[in-house]
Amino acid sequence: MQIVSKLPHIGTNIFTIMSGLAAQHGAVNLSQGFPNFDPSGRLRRLVTEAMAAGHNQYAPMPGLLALRQQIAAKIARLYSVETDPDTEITITAGGTQAIFSIILAVVHPGDEVILLEPCYDSYRPSVEAAGGIPVAYTMTAPDFSVDWQALGSLITPRTRLICINTPGNPTGTILTGADMQALEQIVEGTSIAVMSDEVYEHLIYDGVEHASVLRYPALRSRSFAVYSFGKTCHCTGWKIGYCVAPPALTAEFRKIHQFNVFSVHHPMQVALAEFLQDPQEYLGLPAFYQQKRDFFADLMQGTAYRPLPCAGTYFQVYDYSAISREGDLDFCKRLTTDFGVASIPVSAFYSDGRDQHLIRVCFAKTEEVLKDGAQRLAVAAATLQT
Ligand code: PMP
Repeated sequence: MQIVSKLPHIGTNIFTIMSGLAAQHGAVNLSQGFPNFDPSGRLRRLVTEAMAAGHNQYAPMPGLLALRQQIAAKIARLYSVETDPDTEITITAGGTQAIFSIILAVVHPGDEVILLEPCYDSYRPSVEAAGGIPVAYTMTAPDFSVDWQALGSLITPRTRLICINTPGNPTGTILTGADMQALEQIVEGTSIAVMSDEVYEHLIYDGVEHASVLRYPALRSRSFAVYSFGKTCHCTGWKIGYCVAPPALTAEFRKIHQFNVFSVHHPMQVALAEFLQDPQEYLGLPAFYQQKRDFFADLMQGTAYRPLPCAGTYFQVYDYSAISREGDLDFCKRLTTDFGVASIPVSAFYSDGRDQHLIRVCFAKTEEVLKDGAQRLAVAAATLQT
């Protein structure tokens, strides 16, 4: 018996390949995007206490109300927007499940979805699993900027959804207020929805304010905004996040969500509801990660890797064309096997596999690991350059 694959071209993803190679060669792993340090002791204690207090059965389908109320307070504080926890906020099993459920709720077979590439690798297969047709708008190095008029020309009567991501993985670039206004204009008068992936909302640097879709009323009225506690609380393994959307959109989202997961693990929600009462837990994140970005940048200075601007996320992209003419996948494999440091080739985030000689490095690591990784990258540069 054989089933007809819905995703025939999906194989082992690049993160599995590079992490596997890193483990095999005992390499410093700067490839996958997760911190190599724990969430705060207070948060871990709160989870343990919630379990001990008996919060071990199903949470309500949209999520614990106390947590949704804290999220509404956080959104009001950060983006000066009122959201109704009852009808506009849903707790999800991480950003990825939110994205999948949004796409399933919005996209009908044959609908077109505009993706801004390079992008997070779940978008395209989610669209395809829903029977939709991904339409790529390509952003290129060094600034990965968006020409909104050119993007607008990709819109057809079948366009159902546009997926944006700011701060952006893998590029480390951000969309500005002007970008949001341009997007607002190109979708005006259409029935196109927007999925705004904002999982790195707090990882934004140099004093810049995050241009959340929630700040722009006309955009907000057609948008699903996606967030992840994995990024905000250094707990990617907990897979917990949320989706914010106007009531009519949330109602459709929840129709899928309730049959996708029904509800999300309960003790973490109890703990996060308490944890978020102290805004310092997230207000300190830009400074915390900016310090790591700058620490790593200092270590890499004087090497032949050319850093591209990093305005947000915990990823730094480097152009290695002064070091090697090898393709980026081969170069990343060589760095891992021969020099003991793993990174991700940026071509993996493009559907056409476009190779611009770029690697993505994750700096959500302790200083010890960052030092070790930078040193190995420097040795590779010095060796391969000659
Ligand atoms: N969106 C982007 C851009 C991401 O980088 C990630 C995580 N790598 C996610 C969504 C998914 O977040 P989560 O781990 O909460 O599913």
